[in-house]
Amino acid sequence: MLVRLYAGHLGVRLSPLNIMVTLALCLVLWRVFRPGSGFLAWVFPARVYRSQSFWLDVKLLLFNGIIGLFITLNYVAVATFTAVMVAKGLGVETPLPDAGFPVLSALVVFLAADLAIYWYHRWHHELSALWAIHALHHSAEELSPVTTFRHHPIYGLLGVVVLSGFVGLAQGIAMTLILGSVDVATLAGTNLFAAILNLGTANLRHSHIWLRYPGWLEHVLISPAQHQVHHSVDPRHHDRNYGEVLALWDWLFGTLYITRKDETIRFGLGDSAGAPLPQPHPTLRAALVEPVAKAWSVLSGNGSGGKK
Ligand SMILES: [Zn+2]
Ligand SMILES: [Zn+2]
Repeated sequence: MLVRLYAGHLGVRLSPLNIMVTLALCLVLWRVFRPGSGFLAWVFPARVYRSQSFWLDVKLLLFNGIIGLFITLNYVAVATFTAVMVAKGLGVETPLPDAGFPVLSALVVFLAADLAIYWYHRWHHELSALWAIHALHHSAEELSPVTTFRHHPIYGLLGVVVLSGFVGLAQGIAMTLILGSVDVATLAGTNLFAAILNLGTANLRHSHIWLRYPGWLEHVLISPAQHQVHHSVDPRHHDRNYGEVLALWDWLFGTLYITRKDETIRFGLGDSAGAPLPQPHPTLRAALVEPVAKAWSVLSGNGSGGKK
């Protein structure tokens, strides 16, 4: 089912192909930036890879990996069910014949999923109970590609409902308009657009490597630097650049931040004045328990969720 081909891109970042392309890109950047240290010491700094923050990312990657199969299966099931219901609701008989617009179909599903991720992410910043869950991602004080997976399991489970429901809706409408089963164009088993636009650069979004795009391109695509800004404690960076792949949504909905050459970024949780907050997630146990306790206190009216 084509939805799986979009969902698959979320885990494809650490695939051998993507890691190789990322390293090749880093080699080019190392030669351009000339940071004054050896290549490996620059790409894998001990400061990052020996930090408590990095090892919590690894533990969450393993923990979420165990329940990840369950999440992916449900993502596919919910999206497929929604797509068929929408198509039926619009008066289309299923099963549909193959229609043969794979590139168009890939684009529709990619746009729908990327837009859904924008709003899903934004709600996690704007609603206190959801912020309590998402703050775990932002408590990372060092960024590495593994930080992509630093999420509470509730973030993934809620995503099954919201993202797959939205993608299923778009898929159902596409099936109705095309009047056929939508077959999606792929590259290495992933949605064509997601695969191309994530190749190499997606792994740098969570990293110490500051890669900006020209201003016009940062209106269209989220650069690694733009996502690093999203993790900054500085108040002028708060609640900006929610986009996953496309910056277009941030531009359209007024949350875009274009990076500057001379930004100084400190990662982690900060208060409204930009002062770093104490680390609420020093251990895996704290990372799993604290967000739920905080969300519960918000929902029961006893707390604010510590919204930054
Ligand atoms: Zn965020
Ligand atoms: Zn992030």
